[in-house]
Amino acid sequence: MKTYDIVIVGGGASGLIAAISSKKVNKDIRVAIIEKNDRIGKKLINTGNGRCNITNADITKEHYYSSNSKFFDFFGSFSLNDAEDFFGKLGVVFKTEENGKIYPYSLQASSVLDALRYECEKLNVDVFCIERVKSAKKTGAKFLVVTDGDEYNSSALIIAAGGAASDKLGGSYDGYNILKSFGHKSTELYPSITAVKTKTELIKALKGIKTDADVTLVNGKQKKSMFGEILFTDYGLSGPPILQLSQMLMGKGNGAYFEIDFMPEYSYDDVVDLIHNRKNNVFEDRLENLFIGMLNKRIGQCVIKSAGLNLSDAASLLTDKQISSVASKIKKFRLEVTGVRGFEYAQVTGGGIELNKFDCTTMQSLICSGLYSCGEVLDVTGDCGGFNLQWAWTSGYKAGQGAAKSVKK
Ligand SMILES: Cc1cc2nc3c(=O)[nH]c(=O)nc-3n(C[C@H](O)[C@H](O)[C@H](O)COP(=O)(O)OP(=O)(O)OC[C@H]3O[C@@H](n4cnc5c(N)ncnc54)[C@H](O)[C@@H]3O)c2cc1C
Repeated sequence: MKTYDIVIVGGGASGLIAAISSKKVNKDIRVAIIEKNDRIGKKLINTGNGRCNITNADITKEHYYSSNSKFFDFFGSFSLNDAEDFFGKLGVVFKTEENGKIYPYSLQASSVLDALRYECEKLNVDVFCIERVKSAKKTGAKFLVVTDGDEYNSSALIIAAGGAASDKLGGSYDGYNILKSFGHKSTELYPSITAVKTKTELIKALKGIKTDADVTLVNGKQKKSMFGEILFTDYGLSGPPILQLSQMLMGKGNGAYFEIDFMPEYSYDDVVDLIHNRKNNVFEDRLENLFIGMLNKRIGQCVIKSAGLNLSDAASLLTDKQISSVASKIKKFRLEVTGVRGFEYAQVTGGGIELNKFDCTTMQSLICSGLYSCGEVLDVTGDCGGFNLQWAWTSGYKAGQGAAKSVKK
């Protein structure tokens, strides 16, 4: 049995910052991080394609989803500027890209982890890896945390075990289950920031093609458009705009559809004119060659087929009606959504432990005093673009501070 003032379950983004912020309150408290992976921060070093999109210049409510909006006021207590200041003191300089995404100047996620790791070492935070927390309970004033190799006794307990997304990098349901064992409730969980499954008959031949497009996702009354590179796959669509828009689906596909604009810089009328101008000048006078030099060849052929035409038909015989139909497919290529890819492919978990039973100034449980939580396990999900890590920094920092203040020394 090991004894600590604070035990933190999970050595990811929120757990590491919680450990550091607790030690900033009182350097003498004994803090342990328990991590089931063979090293801490495994997910963190894979963020932002290895570059770590650490936060965003536009931390506003519109970029977050939660069944409880009170959490958002809480960002002010450890905001973007505080994160910049915090990481700046650890040597991590921020670099803002044109789209507002913020990265470490090194463009290396590993440097963010190194900075957090060195600070934990400097502050004498004990880290135990390859130990999975199986259960936790409170007996009297103390928590008993049971792992698959040991037992820990502590005055405060922080659940920073992340969400269910991306199991290869540490994703698990453990955090939810531990918090539920204390009486907390979870909303429905769903994979978010993930690729989307669509009907595939129309796009079978496009597998592996990447193209820039303006993509609109229509889901009931909601409609959102994004520009970027999309990837056609054997199950549907992937690529940055698709991952971003997947948030809107909340894990479901019923009735939703994409409209893809393959030529966003051109209006519908421009596209009609382009087709009129080229219809008499097509190699072998075959429709399959109509879009050479205008669209990716396979996308062009797919557009023609989806307009109900045959690739071997004569381009010169295209009627105005057929040209309108083809132009509509270029500007609004419709693909029905059938679902989203699962947790194993998702970057984050939508939903989580309900926030109404937490004090959103300290992240302390209102059900069990001394119990704290932070990060993805809670019911806050951000857009793609640094918003989820900012939530981990904000909630982790406050949980660490709150727990340290609750520990009497
Ligand atoms: C591929 C990928 C790229 C991403 N890129 C970005 C990005 O660029 N910007 C952004 O804002 N967000 C990004 N995210 C999301 C972001 O990484 C997470 O939202 C964030 O890491 C959540 O922090 P956390 O501390 O709550 O959880 P995590 O960072 O997942 O940490 C939780 C830790 O707890 C451990 N753990 C779980 N259960 C137990 C247990 N029972 N016992 C002990 N340890 C346990 C896990 O192994 C893990 O190390 C990305 C996610 C993925 C998967």
